[in-house]
Amino acid sequence: MRKIGLGILITSVGLIALTAGGLLTFAQTENPLSGKIIALDAGHGGNTLGAQYPATCADDGDPSDCQIYEKDVNLAVTHVLKGELEANGAKVVLSRECNETISTNKARADTAVEKCKLVDVNGDGQADGRKCDVLVSVHHNGSVESSHDGTMVIYNERQDKPLAIALHDSLISSLGLTDEGYDNGGYGMTVFDHLVSALTESYYITNTAEADYYLAGATTTVCQNSDGSDYKVRIGDRVNQEADTLYQGLLNYFSISPTKPGRK
Ligand SMILES: [Zn+2]
Repeated sequence: MRKIGLGILITSVGLIALTAGGLLTFAQTENPLSGKIIALDAGHGGNTLGAQYPATCADDGDPSDCQIYEKDVNLAVTHVLKGELEANGAKVVLSRECNETISTNKARADTAVEKCKLVDVNGDGQADGRKCDVLVSVHHNGSVESSHDGTMVIYNERQDKPLAIALHDSLISSLGLTDEGYDNGGYGMTVFDHLVSALTESYYITNTAEADYYLAGATTTVCQNSDGSDYKVRIGDRVNQEADTLYQGLLNYFSISPTKPGRK
């Protein structure tokens, strides 16, 4: 009996040590997001509205005409995605925090690059001067055909392709929409600053069902305008689902494509 008891004791200690060692190993090598600097870009902003719903609505400031601006859907997704990524060990910068009025692609790309340089990954209290590991530009498509829906991912350089594929595959498997494939004609901000980047058009905000889905979300303050006023977007099931899906795509990308930390 005592022998068995001792054996159990030894086994228990062994298991504890093994478990602790396993956890340590997991924390150091198995979290692909740890130490990564991810730039998220909410496409458009300010007076650059992007796609609108309904597609033919009059952009005269009357909210009964245009019910959705793409810039707001993009902003909603980036804010939710940022929270998810940070909760799982990544460092995240936003190319625009709110509804900034100057929001050209080039300006937002430059903002992302500067913000990535300021990130302190190693915790020494100083900016590390690093490049963004990736930039994901979040957009939603538009069509005058209100029944049209589908998913497309855009990238520009060969170095962007693994990221584009990871995001595309995650979106297709999760959203289940028509696969409109890839485009790489140098659109959007994937062309600036030689960042590893991809631009997602997860679905068509001009699609009636998608618009209803977005509008069913709760009106939520995500940031403050430069005058201090709250800026509200809708956050509901569709925004959360898309953020989860992009998160999974990024996780998959970094799982198969480790980048060297500490690059200048
Ligand atoms: Zn757009």
